[in-house]
Amino acid sequence: MAVRADDIEIRDDFALLIDGELVTGSATLDVINPATEQIFARCPAGTTFELDAAVNAAARAFPAWSALGFSERADFVKRYVIALGERYDELAELLVREQGKPIAQARAELDSSFRLANETVELEIPAEQLVDSGKHRIELHYRPLGVVGIITPWNAPAALALGGLGAAVYTGNTCVIKPSPYTPLTTLKLGEVAREIFPDGVVNIVSGGDDLGRTLSEHPGVQKISFTGSVATGKKVVVSTADTLKRFTLELGGNDPAIVLEDSDPQAIAKKIFFACFVNCGQVCMAIKRIYVHEAIYEGLCQALAEEAQSARFGNGLDPDNALGPLQNEMQFRKVVEIFKDTIDGGATVLSGGEIPDRPGYFLPPTFVTNVADDSRLVTEEQFGPIVPIMRFTDIDDALRRANDTRYGLGGSVWTKDTARGKKIAARLEVGTAWVNRHRAISAYVPFGGAKESGIGRQNSVLGLKGYMEPQVISVTDQDS
Ligand code: NAD
Repeated sequence: MAVRADDIEIRDDFALLIDGELVTGSATLDVINPATEQIFARCPAGTTFELDAAVNAAARAFPAWSALGFSERADFVKRYVIALGERYDELAELLVREQGKPIAQARAELDSSFRLANETVELEIPAEQLVDSGKHRIELHYRPLGVVGIITPWNAPAALALGGLGAAVYTGNTCVIKPSPYTPLTTLKLGEVAREIFPDGVVNIVSGGDDLGRTLSEHPGVQKISFTGSVATGKKVVVSTADTLKRFTLELGGNDPAIVLEDSDPQAIAKKIFFACFVNCGQVCMAIKRIYVHEAIYEGLCQALAEEAQSARFGNGLDPDNALGPLQNEMQFRKVVEIFKDTIDGGATVLSGGEIPDRPGYFLPPTFVTNVADDSRLVTEEQFGPIVPIMRFTDIDDALRRANDTRYGLGGSVWTKDTARGKKIAARLEVGTAWVNRHRAISAYVPFGGAKESGIGRQNSVLGLKGYMEPQVISVTDQDS
């Protein structure tokens, strides 16, 4: 049912998914459309009561679900992806309204997460034969853990919920998903579809505030937390999980550098670098957040990037002509504006963008700045917004030192026509993924995660799936040995 407040229609057709039932609960969350700054939807906010019910349901569902084989569980996931596809347009539009990203990027988020889920369930995790000496046989098996708590942020809510869900249930676990209070809606709709496909209790979704995330991390009925979010909250999750010694995977923030070598063609790479900086308005963990350019092509690349920025329209993500939407929430908008002002006060120069529009919505234009000090907040912090510094270097060792001079270590890239040299330089980046001539490419077959404070553990690939399982040695000796 939709209710009216003032003259805005507020959607309220959202429910938690607990034990196969759609539940409304006792408290609510208001959800703001960041393009208008108006509340446009209201959904349930789970309390400890609903969270306990979800964890208990997941625990009850675990024995039967984990007893199924990989291929049976893969069939459920594939049927789920097909069922989600039937609600594709509705999900994509809802994602734009709650998150802000342009509609093409919302569709891309769904497309890539559907593909990732389908490809993940093709991966095999066979037992490994460690010893076979006739009478002694030792094998390494992997067992599901039990109930997995999946905590997601607001920048890519559908992809991160689906990625966690697919990995958790394919490996034989059941799950409880807690989306960000800023973007709970698409995730709750994923729950409606999950209800039609999975046995009761295998997938549970409880939206709620930050406290609910802490309660889930501490919960004695949960065996693993798969957390995606900021470094600061990731550290809190480590503390909350300590009492029960839960397994955890932390996918945290990044401050990815791109190093552009002197042989690069600015015209050939500007579009790719621009997109890797400003997709989702820069609110991507593995967006390019710092650009280091060799002095020989510095002016040329600055010009080519400025042209890209000037021709990119920004505005409501529902308008397909807009390449950038708003920042997702007011807190993030204020933080990015503050970092921008601090950078300009520190003597930096605006190359493109830089004007803060005087209109509703958390909008900022794609902005490049030059003459930025290495110790400025824009360089040292994760800005998570559409303001990117371009810095000059002459010596590659100096560029690498500056690129690595950070507590983050998610991704980084090197841009050059000489890919052999690029590969050697990429290997010196202290990051989980070092790309050459691309940035932000991930796949189901490739482990993804952070070095340093950008995370612990990996998602995707067999390595990632093993993070949802406990290794178990089975050691067999014949009695007559
Ligand atoms: P956040 O850390 O504020 O919140 C993430 C989630 O944690 C939310 O669901 C929140 O309610 C919950 N939470 C808050 N306090 C908690 C606590 N004490 N215990 C448990 N859960 C708690 O992050 P955000 O601002 O929503 O997201 C932006 C951050 O996420 C950025 O730093 C970005 O780089 C990072 N991120 C990382 C990846 C990756 O794969 N490495 C992907 C996307 C986003």
